[in-house]
Amino acid sequence: MKSVIFIAPPAAGKGTQSDILKKDGYIHLSTGDMLRREVSSGSELGVYINNLMQSGALVNDDIVNELIVNNLSALGNKPFILDGYPRNLAQAENLSNIFDNLNISNYEVIYLKLSENDALKRTLGRVTCKCGKSYNLNEESLKPRIAGVCDDCGSELVTRNDDNPESFKVRFETYINNATPLIQYYEKLNKLHEIDALNNSFAISEEIKGILK
Ligand code: AMP
Repeated sequence: MKSVIFIAPPAAGKGTQSDILKKDGYIHLSTGDMLRREVSSGSELGVYINNLMQSGALVNDDIVNELIVNNLSALGNKPFILDGYPRNLAQAENLSNIFDNLNISNYEVIYLKLSENDALKRTLGRVTCKCGKSYNLNEESLKPRIAGVCDDCGSELVTRNDDNPESFKVRFETYINNATPLIQYYEKLNKLHEIDALNNSFAISEEIKGILK
């Protein structure tokens, strides 16, 4: 199984597709989740990160680069999903260096394409569980079975504090500014696969599995 890097605007379905791949033995590495854990710890660094995340801005490259190198180094040969990293060209170049050092070349990049309006609609409908599963109240196939309750673990579903129109605007702008160089970088490496994120999640996961075989 090949490892996978996702490039996508907010709420395009990276989390949902990661949940599906996890069932096949993939290790899910989400920089957003790692940063939220640091925020929950209440550390001084967590307070600093929380302010950036709430505003919709990116966290400093050196912080996320360190999270990624530590997590990738600990993986051994297991296939992994990079969800939310790299988010800019400097991070992509850093990742290529890490891959060289760890002898990783068996991966593909999935670009989930979604318009700003559709990304906004999905962002405002998203609710998440502390177990990591996410749902979408604006997508019939992605609603929880019981309103407000996680299908998998029964915990309460909450709205992320950066899933609001103001943060979304900054996050989408940041995404647009950084996505084109990232996409071009992976196109040149012959790794890029574009998928329409408006397709249903089952069809998308079948397409992804075909690419990663
Ligand atoms: P996500 O959960 O992927 O939507 O990320 C939530 C927020 O975490 C982003 O809006 C950024 O503030 C921060 N973040 C996540 N990944 C990165 C990254 N690779 N580089 C910088 N900031 C990040």
